[in-house]
Amino acid sequence: MRSAWLQKVSRIVVKLGTGVVTNAARQPDQARMKQLVAQMAGQVQAGREVVVVSSGAVGAGMGVLGYSRRPVEISAQQACAAVGQPRLMATYERLFAEHQLNAAQVLLTHADLEHKERHLNARNTLITLLGHGVVPVINENDTVSFTEIKFGDNDMLSALVASLLPADLLVILTTVDGLIENFGKPHARVLPTVEDIAAVEAQAGGTDSATAVGGMASKLAAAKVAVRSGIPLIIASGKKPDSLERILSGAEEGTLFVPKTARLRGRKRWIAFFHHPKGTLYVDDGARKALREQGKSLLPPGVVRCEGEFKKGDVLRICDLNGTEFARGLSGFTGDEIRDRQLKRVEIVHRDNLVVL
Ligand code: GLU
Repeated sequence: MRSAWLQKVSRIVVKLGTGVVTNAARQPDQARMKQLVAQMAGQVQAGREVVVVSSGAVGAGMGVLGYSRRPVEISAQQACAAVGQPRLMATYERLFAEHQLNAAQVLLTHADLEHKERHLNARNTLITLLGHGVVPVINENDTVSFTEIKFGDNDMLSALVASLLPADLLVILTTVDGLIENFGKPHARVLPTVEDIAAVEAQAGGTDSATAVGGMASKLAAAKVAVRSGIPLIIASGKKPDSLERILSGAEEGTLFVPKTARLRGRKRWIAFFHHPKGTLYVDDGARKALREQGKSLLPPGVVRCEGEFKKGDVLRICDLNGTEFARGLSGFTGDEIRDRQLKRVEIVHRDNLVVL
């Protein structure tokens, strides 16, 4: 069953967490990174394209600047990232060179992927690098991005990169063996497969690590983006020397999140995942059903409440009356026009500009 999802994988995004690539001295963990680069180089040699999303810039800078725990102030985190990122990159460059491969640094901010042209440019650059046989190593440009405009974390960044390309598989290598059922209790075990993310969400917590951010909750948020993009995601251990090889051979390694069968098209992926929405529309049950089940556009009578100052063309969250977001779309009107309630026989969000999540 697993091998069915892994048979035709030719482009992989591999995300490496801070806990995997940095050590207790808050420096790049040379031995671990050597082992991971060897695994990734092995995949390139097997004819696959590999894109790395690596955390660890802040973690690797902490040792140099004398922090034992991740600093709270943004400016200090950014300073750590500025010091740590080149050290991390120098390590990747040297280690990939041992396999006759070139690594490239790509630092992204959320805005780079939100704006349509920049989104397409970023994609073209990555595809061009892959065409040259280069291994792109991506991180968030932490030194210039700050809280409200961040991707969230690198789990989300890796899912967005997988969705941008698109990739055939996303592998998140972390410090645990997968998504663990009954964590910390008797009968704890790695779940081999997850088909319904909502059903496992109650099990997932954050992290209390001294260097990392994220934890399982952020991995599940990333998993939603991957599976809705039609991309399988595997969360597995970054500590084992053969995780990638075992995964690609279809062996039961880590937790597989099964993708939704229909892959969203590029423009719909861009609408659904790459924006910080500018407003929210709360719709009644009739509209919810029309959008979810009948493939209809959103019309004025279905909108019960409209929040936010937004322009025509901005991305909006579409929620049911309990506040649960179930769709996203590009607004046909400004927030004020919608609130004025003078709109008749128009589409507030046209079906072509709407994605049910
Ligand atoms: N971009 C951050 C770093 O390199 C990590 C963010 C994350 O791991 O989610 O330190």
